[in-house]
Amino acid sequence: MAQDRDPNCLFCRLEAREIPSDRVYEDDQVIVFRDVNPRAPTHVLAIPRRHVPSIHALTDSPADTALLAALFAALRKMVADAGLEDGYRVVTNVGPAAGQSVPHLHLHLLGGRAMSWPPG
Ligand code: AMP
Repeated sequence: MAQDRDPNCLFCRLEAREIPSDRVYEDDQVIVFRDVNPRAPTHVLAIPRRHVPSIHALTDSPADTALLAALFAALRKMVADAGLEDGYRVVTNVGPAAGQSVPHLHLHLLGGRAMSWPPG
């Protein structure tokens, strides 16, 4: 299993409240907070409490399967709270070539404006 916490990881430090964030949801596995540099009227990030570098590091284990379900379930709550049922986007960047800048798994939820495709 992946190491539970990386003391040098920005989002592990945010989870531990060593750095501030605007949390909008939390449970035993997941926290959701507002992106500090929002790219849409609603832009939140859902992260696992434990350190996972990206979805690429997940396995087929029951624990990892449950974690993925918990991340999406948390975002579904945010969709309802923000009234985004007409449309929204969920993105996870994996690796530097895809633009992942924080190596702790996070799902972006973006909504509240029209979106184009494909992303850059
Ligand atoms: P990515 O580029 O996919 O790795 O996304 C990382 C996201 O984390 C970016 O959208 C940043 O704006 C966001 N971010 C970085 N630091 C913080 C922070 N301290 N609080 C909230 N969001 C952050």
